[in-house]
Amino acid sequence: MSSIRIVYDEAHKLHSDPSGRHPESPWRLETALSALKESPVWGLIEIQGLPEPEDRLLNLIHSDHYIELIRRESAKGFHYIDSDTYVTEHTFKVSAAYVTAAYKAALESLERREMRVIMPRPGGHHAGRSGWAMGAPTLGFCIFNYAAAAARAFLDSGLKVLMIDFDAHHGNGTQDIFWEEPRVLHIDIHEEDIYPGTGNIDDIGGGGAEGTKVNVPLPAFSGDPQYLWILDNVVNPLIEAFKPEAIVVSAGFDAYEGDPLTMLRASEESYEAIASTLREQWNGGRLKALITNLEGGYGEGLRKGFKAYIETLAGSRLYARRGEPKRPPERIVRELSRILSKYWGLEAPRD
Ligand SMILES: [Zn+2]
Repeated sequence: MSSIRIVYDEAHKLHSDPSGRHPESPWRLETALSALKESPVWGLIEIQGLPEPEDRLLNLIHSDHYIELIRRESAKGFHYIDSDTYVTEHTFKVSAAYVTAAYKAALESLERREMRVIMPRPGGHHAGRSGWAMGAPTLGFCIFNYAAAAARAFLDSGLKVLMIDFDAHHGNGTQDIFWEEPRVLHIDIHEEDIYPGTGNIDDIGGGGAEGTKVNVPLPAFSGDPQYLWILDNVVNPLIEAFKPEAIVVSAGFDAYEGDPLTMLRASEESYEAIASTLREQWNGGRLKALITNLEGGYGEGLRKGFKAYIETLAGSRLYARRGEPKRPPERIVRELSRILSKYWGLEAPRD
């Protein structure tokens, strides 16, 4: 079993909609944390608070213009900056502190070879270099992109980085930030035809990084069978081909059955299976660092999915496959196969 250091700080409560009606609320982290406290994995966890924010780290992932916009809007106090996303007078400072936490946690994960987890609010993966990313209509609750900050720390350390985003929404902000970065392989599994409307299979990166952005949009109601298939036929072969030295996970739990925002209907098994793959990589020895950044999740997924993921990652829950993998619709398989073969020399999946 492995100990895991988790960044959790009550300061997240300073970012909240006073009406209590917004799904991105302090309840989310309270729920996720209390699930861990009731789990046997709690004995392996060390909680760490937020560091003082270092504003210079924001410039590594966001434009000056966007940083100043958030600083200005936040200073005005609670209000919406687009139809989905609010700020409070504390949002700038709290979100900047999570960027600092993610960047430092990445470096510490590398120095000490320890797995690290960041539990921020709000999530970050929809925030692109200049905020609104890839034509998305809103920031999707996000302010600054913490997973991107962790990936940046690894790139600055000379490492090849795999980013896996299994939040039910496409990580358009992260993809925007590393669109032209060939040293970041970004695999994004999300529900098709929902917010933010990006992440088509033929979005593959640009500027010499073509093929390093792999989008897997799944139809509503896909559930565990398709996650297992994607792990076997996309994620694992790509890991073998790319040989990442560091991994950053954008771990959203809104694909979990019953989430009010999405319809993917995954269960614990999907999260156990993903975490088990990560743990195998960790135990394999090639991987030098591993960071998980909590993204979305607005229902039971925060309790059950998150707990299953952390327990499996730490090795306190052993995963044995229960379900059967099932191919996604043929149009998705065909397009994915074309990209995997063209850019990675991988054979089309057979089953
Ligand atoms: Zn989401």
